[in-house]
Amino acid sequence: MSDIARAREQTAPEPLTPARAALAAAARELAATGVAPSTAGNLSVREGDLVAITGGGVQLSAMTPERCVVVDLDGEQVAGAGRPSSETQLHLAAGAATGAAAVVHSHAPFATTLAATLSGELPVVHYSMHAFGGPVRIAPYERFGTGALAESVRAALQDRSGALMANHGAVVVAPTLAEAVEKMVLLEWMCEVTWRALLLGSPRLIEGDELDAVGARSRALRYGRADA
Ligand SMILES: [Zn+2]
Repeated sequence: MSDIARAREQTAPEPLTPARAALAAAARELAATGVAPSTAGNLSVREGDLVAITGGGVQLSAMTPERCVVVDLDGEQVAGAGRPSSETQLHLAAGAATGAAAVVHSHAPFATTLAATLSGELPVVHYSMHAFGGPVRIAPYERFGTGALAESVRAALQDRSGALMANHGAVVVAPTLAEAVEKMVLLEWMCEVTWRALLLGSPRLIEGDELDAVGARSRALRYGRADA
């Protein structure tokens, strides 16, 4: 390597520096919501062909930009001192399946409770389910950190922005980190309501094409607000 190339490498800024700062802040915010206990959650955000992802084995409440790692779309680490989250494949698959830039995975307690008891998809006990594009599916169990789990989640996210992972947790995707954190909180709230409703007996469900109609109404209102 020439002296010039070496000097350039030494002074080159770390890639995705602003994104890593935003990611660390979002991780701490997610921890503050209580939906991602201890180290049981990870977040990522894509910019172009690179993905910033929270480091493995780090408490989300103590996440710093330095503990966030940058990988390429094949999962190869290109920056960051620590190791990337063990669920890097899951994040890359969720992003690729949906086109979303931000991915949040957690072991949120109510979502994980339902992921340990239900199969197929969540019963639609509340119209807010439309925010996920339809009834949230429960991806069949695969061991953590594996390509098989990433594939299972990829299938469950077809036309959806959230999924439960059997005997594991939950994952959501969104265009931005802030929206992804918000969506994880919404999914956990919905799982708690579903859990309560199931405890009381047989919940009355929203059926037929009503959820699609709710989604269309919601989008119309949102566009109306944007035009105002
Ligand atoms: Zn996990």
